[in-house]
Amino acid sequence: MINRRSLLLLFAALLLPVILLISGAVFAQQKPVKTRKGKAYPVRHSEKFFFSVEDFNMENETVKITISEGYVLLGSTVKGFTEAIIIPLDSRIDGDINEMEASCPLNHLYLRFNPEWYARNLEQNLQRSPAIDSIYSRAMDIHKQKFRNYFHAGWNALIPPAEVLICDFEMRQPVVRIGSLFYADKYYILSDPADNFDKYTHDRFTLYYPGNSVIGDTLQQWLNVRERAYANICDFLDVDQNRIENVTFYVFNDKKQGLKYGKKLGFAVPGESEIYTLYNQTPGHELAHVVSYWINTKRIDSALINEGLAVLLDQSGRNYNRITRHLLSTEVISPGELTSLLGDHFREVKWGYPVGASFVDFLIKTRGIDKFKDFFAQKDYNESDSFVQYYGKTGPELMEEWKEQIVNKDYGELSAKDKDYLSLYKQWAGKSVERR
Ligand SMILES: [Zn+2]
Repeated sequence: MINRRSLLLLFAALLLPVILLISGAVFAQQKPVKTRKGKAYPVRHSEKFFFSVEDFNMENETVKITISEGYVLLGSTVKGFTEAIIIPLDSRIDGDINEMEASCPLNHLYLRFNPEWYARNLEQNLQRSPAIDSIYSRAMDIHKQKFRNYFHAGWNALIPPAEVLICDFEMRQPVVRIGSLFYADKYYILSDPADNFDKYTHDRFTLYYPGNSVIGDTLQQWLNVRERAYANICDFLDVDQNRIENVTFYVFNDKKQGLKYGKKLGFAVPGESEIYTLYNQTPGHELAHVVSYWINTKRIDSALINEGLAVLLDQSGRNYNRITRHLLSTEVISPGELTSLLGDHFREVKWGYPVGASFVDFLIKTRGIDKFKDFFAQKDYNESDSFVQYYGKTGPELMEEWKEQIVNKDYGELSAKDKDYLSLYKQWAGKSVERR
């Protein structure tokens, strides 16, 4: 028979290990974890660590952040506080971030620090406050989103060195998320423009554009031009148009707008069929980078050949042979300079892009597009061997032949488009703007 007493004993016997387990777990939660990067400490949040904040400022060489008013949730370890999640009511950032002007309120500010930094810089600006549920849970969401990006081992905190301050914040206008090593003045743009941009799709093309886009009212017209360019380039390279399922354009108003998203415009990510472009860039250049990659999902490791082809197929209507001839005849470039397009310094040559297009045109017209495609779609390119292997001549020998042709052939007078380009390019090249 089981009586009351033995039933209680049985209960106690069953529960005791459970009680021990729970208290052990609570105890273990406080204990550091040994990791390859050092000791990592469990982080606790509670209503006890909820504060209001006033007149808190942070400054480095280029940026000043002010939190005039707001709330803070701290993350605590046995070593002290290492995390602050700040939800401002009134805040500002002013200064320069990676060459872009930042001047707006903040949506939130996430800090990771050494407890010493906290005692010296933040503690005195905090006042105890009853926790506000909505702000508390928003702060916890931010913790979950950001904690494991910095000084962590799983969900445990590594304590940053005293001189390091991680500052990860979201600006309000435009909404851009930035991670930084604040005292080192190093910034990392973590936002994807797709998060903030509007989207337009047509057939295989997706277009992302900002709210204030110059092309906002003429999206399909803008795309029509690129759709034609795409068809022309596929035709020229004999790549099936259906080979690429989706082409995505991110279209920016100006270079500064690109910098806000950490993008140095314009460029393509051929493997992803993504194009980051100014709205008024040539329709074909970046598309040519994408389509040429899909010849055989390989591309030659040569800036001269890649950029030469992209410029040649930019669909601008310019004649780069004529332009090259003009540059040679006006002694903007000397014939001897042409071979400097070979080797690793292509991008440093002021007139490399248009002249490279002429060279690629020469290879294609004299040796055929099929030979060029084989030459282009290779992974083992090595300049000193590959020209001989594919074309039976060295790079400098081919260039000599090309130069003869440019100098002796009649390409006609410079067109209006050629002239416009020459005057524009002079300005760009002088500033050594990147055009990948
Ligand atoms: Zn390019």
